[in-house]
Amino acid sequence: MSLQADLISTAAIAIHAGILSNESGIESLDREIGDGDHFINVKRGAEAIEAMADEIQSLSADEALNKIGIKLLSTIGGASGPLFASFFMGMAKIAKHNGANTTLDIAAAFAGGVQEMIKRGKGQLGEKTMLDVLIPVAHTFIFSAIENKNTEEICTAIKKSADEGLASTRTLIATKGRAAGLGDRSVGHLDPGAKSCQVMINEVCNLLLKSNN
Ligand code: ADP
Ligand code: MG
Repeated sequence: MSLQADLISTAAIAIHAGILSNESGIESLDREIGDGDHFINVKRGAEAIEAMADEIQSLSADEALNKIGIKLLSTIGGASGPLFASFFMGMAKIAKHNGANTTLDIAAAFAGGVQEMIKRGKGQLGEKTMLDVLIPVAHTFIFSAIENKNTEEICTAIKKSADEGLASTRTLIATKGRAAGLGDRSVGHLDPGAKSCQVMINEVCNLLLKSNN
């Protein structure tokens, strides 16, 4: 697997479609434990990336990812804007350093993106945020790549991790972001950011599974 600007653009189209078809799910979760804007925020981000297709076409993967991060800073509001922006810029930093020509390179770049998000939001696992999806997915991605698994095996394992990470947020108490103010009352709800990340990851994996067959 190698990462190029055209794959990034195709993934953005799939992500946008996936977000739109999960509108009510994402919106209702952020109404329950947030302020109801998370769907609008991710939709705006997905639209902005999709619209950058021509602009990023001739760029290397790391340049494209960095440009996307910068764009997201000015298009997505709320707490999630700078966090998603950090993710893409962190991915760009590692891709620039290592290249994005092998599955392991891409897994390392993904982990770099998650690490940058962790730094930006001072987050960790178990706080009922999108990191409860992204951290396990980063681990699964790296371990599967190290074990030389094929695309189908990697995508299947990643989807499972994302599903389990999302499900784990139901019983967690939010200690970061807006939902933290609810304390114990956040228990029993899935985290909206974890949901949108699970949707996005699922879309990209399905895209790769489809193009692999
Ligand atoms: P806001 O909370 O400002 O309304 P959004 O609704 O767009 O912004 O995003 C909310 C999501 O952001 C939460 O569901 C959670 O997953 C994520 N989030 C909030 N704070 C953090 C943090 N410090 N680290 C990681 N994710 C976070
Ligand atoms: Mg919100």
